[in-house]
Amino acid sequence: MSEAETSLPTKKLGEALGPNQVRGVVVARPARTASVQGYVPELVKGIGQTMGYFFRNTKDMVLGTRNDPVLESISEGINTISYPEQKKPYSERYRGVHRLTQREDGSPRCVACLCCSTVCPAQCIHIEAGDYTDAQQGDAKRTGYEKYPKRFVIDELRCIFCGFCVEACPCDAIRMDTGIHPSPYDSRDQFLYEKDLLLSIPGRYGELQTENPRVEPGEAGFPGIAREQAH
Ligand code: SF4
Ligand code: SF4
Repeated sequence: MSEAETSLPTKKLGEALGPNQVRGVVVARPARTASVQGYVPELVKGIGQTMGYFFRNTKDMVLGTRNDPVLESISEGINTISYPEQKKPYSERYRGVHRLTQREDGSPRCVACLCCSTVCPAQCIHIEAGDYTDAQQGDAKRTGYEKYPKRFVIDELRCIFCGFCVEACPCDAIRMDTGIHPSPYDSRDQFLYEKDLLLSIPGRYGELQTENPRVEPGEAGFPGIAREQAH
């Protein structure tokens, strides 16, 4: 292959490039004065600038006049968010750690259908399904047709927070509307969120249930076929 075939096409400076017709501009290099070449004067200048910011921010902190970099606009100078004391507000659609929603009687809405664990690309949901016993169900009539999660575990460290599990759930039983992210634990086991923990995590506004109604068998408006009904 000849040199002409392998060389990349060259563009002249100032020539328009790409669909947006971007043009290059020559930026003059700063002159190499004795002060620049000597390093020390420039070092002192840099340290002076940094210390200026330090003292100005310290004074603002002491006097309580420092602007809130989260809620107030950046007017001047350096605005550093002091995480974790200061946090940017998360958007309403932020996908935080999971929670399992409850029914009014405190039982999980989850019916252990395994849709979420099946769709999960990270395979980080583990569910063991169980049957309601008469003693467990109370006034509800769930024995014999509805399951519940005997065990429900999410590995929050393996989770990629894609939200597929929430989308797949037919019962609105799993949600990511907590507005929080997993804490930085010091042991691997602490990232395994068990059912009881997931059921106890409230939503962003403190709710343990969901606003989506779930009509139970025996209640008016239940769309299914009552077990007692002859058919
Ligand atoms: S958010 Fe995605 S990765 Fe995380 S548990 Fe749900 S489906 Fe799995
Ligand atoms: S959380 Fe929803 S999708 Fe997952 S097993 Fe329970 S009912 Fe099914």
